[in-house]
Amino acid sequence: MKEYIFCPICGTTLQIGMLEGKERKYCPKCDFVDYKNPLPVALAIAVKDKDFLLIKRGLPPKKGMWASPSGFIEIGETAEEACLRELREETGVSGKIVKLLGVARREDKELYGDMLIVEYLVKVGNEELTPGNEAEDVKFFSVGELPDYYVELYSNIIKEMQK
Ligand SMILES: [Zn+2]
Repeated sequence: MKEYIFCPICGTTLQIGMLEGKERKYCPKCDFVDYKNPLPVALAIAVKDKDFLLIKRGLPPKKGMWASPSGFIEIGETAEEACLRELREETGVSGKIVKLLGVARREDKELYGDMLIVEYLVKVGNEELTPGNEAEDVKFFSVGELPDYYVELYSNIIKEMQK
């Protein structure tokens, strides 16, 4: 994870001290405090009939692995909007949110640190699959074809989908 050395506001070298019960970096000149918060991510468990739409990640973290479409929530958009935007960017298809599945904490040791992942069940449309810039490939998996790590992560919803 990248760390601030200088204040991003005024350029002064940050100091370390106890602030609000935690050791934090702060700027002695302009009161900037380097609070550490998880990055907000929206993720689409994207399904059509009983198949799951996954992308082969083209970028780290987990480059080359199959995963659900996901990405950072941008300023000015809701988690739902981010979820459907990322789905469209990464797979070329539109989607409809069915429901919120949950909010999970994940730690990405490769790049981003703590992430807060808002997970939605999304029904996808019938458009042609087109992998976006950040995806090497995109395809539907039947339950039997899903990678083991994916089944482990989302076993609850996968079971629910089979009913
Ligand atoms: Zn400063």
